[in-house]
Amino acid sequence: MVEKTKILKCRICQKVKEGVHLRSYNLKICLDCFLDFFKKRIKETIERFKMFSEKDKIAVAISGGKDSTALAKALKDLGYNITLFHINCQIKENDYSEKSQKVVEEFARKENLPLKILNFKDEIEVDVKLAAKISKKEICGVCGMIKRYLLNREAKDFDVIVTGHTLNDEAGSLLKSLIFWQEGFIKRQFPVLREEESLKKRAKPLTLCFERETKLFCDILKLPYLKERCPLRGGTYVLFKRIIEDLENEMPSSALNFYKGFLKRKRIFGKEKPEKLFSCQKCGYLTVAEICNFCKLKEKIKATIKK
Ligand SMILES: [Zn+2]
Ligand SMILES: [Zn+2]
Repeated sequence: MVEKTKILKCRICQKVKEGVHLRSYNLKICLDCFLDFFKKRIKETIERFKMFSEKDKIAVAISGGKDSTALAKALKDLGYNITLFHINCQIKENDYSEKSQKVVEEFARKENLPLKILNFKDEIEVDVKLAAKISKKEICGVCGMIKRYLLNREAKDFDVIVTGHTLNDEAGSLLKSLIFWQEGFIKRQFPVLREEESLKKRAKPLTLCFERETKLFCDILKLPYLKERCPLRGGTYVLFKRIIEDLENEMPSSALNFYKGFLKRKRIFGKEKPEKLFSCQKCGYLTVAEICNFCKLKEKIKATIKK
């Protein structure tokens, strides 16, 4: 376990045993109580933002990393009806996608959870690096767009799609939206997005949990997850996440305060004017243009390959 544990007096159970000091909440807690603390926080987030209930069929996007693995395990233990969806992004560098899929398969088997695997190679004819080059966009942006599209399409019989975005992710992207004053993003940013015709409802139950906690949760329970990060990740996303992490290390609870404060004051940014949405002429997916980004990408790839 990378997290430094020490013998301390747990504030929850009052016993002297192995635990950690969570500086963000100024809380000394033993490892056993931490597991409950973490799950309780997720449950509260789900209920507070009306994400879903025990009756709903829930599609959990799982990458093989610590965040989505911790989320899946917590939701299972909390008694929710979940199915895992893993997308193989065909990243050959360091055999990253192959290793990710293997670790997800191992987790699903151990936890006895249903797992559906989707694969980029069945959808686009080139790898994601080339796809990004062809569309002149950041790799993470293109990869994320394809993943959102596939999940939405494949999880059509589910009530909600949940992802493992953490407080680190959400605070990082909020900071980015504020620095560049991307008003549309600022107005849309929220832990849950409601269903709209062909767009499934989406929820982020880890929105108030730090990555330090998802890692600790996985490590205490010895859950299988891939420790290395995507070799293709980069760009502004990584930069803003790092700023948030530095901020939280220097001033514990500042990142939490930043993001929670935003949720509380969100209305000062005004409501987003409902955008005019169309159904994609190719696939029917709800989009702001006549043809959706995914179909546009496929067309561009086709045109480039033909040359
Ligand atoms: Zn305790
Ligand atoms: Zn389309």
